[in-house]
Amino acid sequence: MYRPTVAEIDLGAIRENLRAIRACIPLRTQVIGVVKADAYGHGAARVAAVLEQEQVPLLAVATPDEAVELREAGIMTEILVLGHAPPDFVPFAVSNNVTLTTDAHATTAMYASAAGSGRVRLHYKIDTGMGRAGVPADTATGQIMRSFALPNVDIVGLYSHLASAESDLDFTARQTECFADIVRDVRAGGLRPAMVHLANSAGIFTVHAPPLDGVRPGILLYGLPPVASLAQACAVKPSLSLRTRLEVVKDLPAGHGIGYGRTFVTERPTRMGLIPIGYADGYPRSLSNKASVIVRGQFAPIVGRVSMDVVAIDVTDVPAAVPGDPVTLIGEQDGLAITAVQLAEMADTISYEIVTGVSKRVPRIYIDRQP
Ligand SMILES: *Cc1c(COP(=O)(O)O)cnc(C)c1O
Repeated sequence: MYRPTVAEIDLGAIRENLRAIRACIPLRTQVIGVVKADAYGHGAARVAAVLEQEQVPLLAVATPDEAVELREAGIMTEILVLGHAPPDFVPFAVSNNVTLTTDAHATTAMYASAAGSGRVRLHYKIDTGMGRAGVPADTATGQIMRSFALPNVDIVGLYSHLASAESDLDFTARQTECFADIVRDVRAGGLRPAMVHLANSAGIFTVHAPPLDGVRPGILLYGLPPVASLAQACAVKPSLSLRTRLEVVKDLPAGHGIGYGRTFVTERPTRMGLIPIGYADGYPRSLSNKASVIVRGQFAPIVGRVSMDVVAIDVTDVPAAVPGDPVTLIGEQDGLAITAVQLAEMADTISYEIVTGVSKRVPRIYIDRQP
């Protein structure tokens, strides 16, 4: 590794976050560990190994290929594919303990015939208001009961996804009630799904219903509360830090432009520092002239545009700064902190996009403080 830019992943923090989440949910409720999108940029295989060690009974991914990646990495825990899987994935699923999501009786019938002589495990996803995937609530019970009668399929789970768990408690309550009604009707019909689940990270705190079998935290496992008010509800710690080192320090006179478009012009003689990270590493260009980084115990502002491979910072007020100094863009350093949540606000997005956006060019390095 010749370039000092890295994403530092604290696996111990993920382990502690899992424990914090478990402390917030009823004893009989299981955590389904959401590791889609390369575990929100943290590295799916490494994170899944930690969750497996901690006896998380079910991992959730978005795509079939993400499930394959985990199996190739030696992860044995059952995996639920939350997104769509084509029927030609069914044989892999059947023989590799991978559970699929179905959204209609027709889809289920297709999976049943693709299962051949095996049995495919399925969770039925119910659309209780998200308006994306899932069997529409009004026909859900009928379709699920018809699917129940199919050969070669085991409907082992029922779930739904909340549209605004962090922002609209009334709508969350309506989705919860709609889901509970369908679960009740399906149970009355004789189906006994082992895993009924509804809440994402925010929903863990905003769904008010009798305990379900599972919750599906993603972002909270990675220590990023989906809204600030939840930070008090569950003490979690960010698990991804984005770090680099100062590459160049250079004096510029007053009145000198910095970067593409000359969007920053120095107002004073300025010590400019260059750091080897850019939007191709997933550091958003929209943070140009907005965000700061930590260097030598101070916040140094980004000056000029974030370009593809480098960012300029103003270190005039950090006179001791020299090439080689550690620089933190996300995370803690010298008693200061910058969170993905703060950057997301500045970039007009959500922390999810910041952490999943850290690109492949940035090597992940892992710290694992065993408890
Ligand atoms: C991504 C996802 C989650 C996790 O959401 P967070 O807000 O990150 O906790 C849960 N359920 C489903 C269906 C998802 O797609």
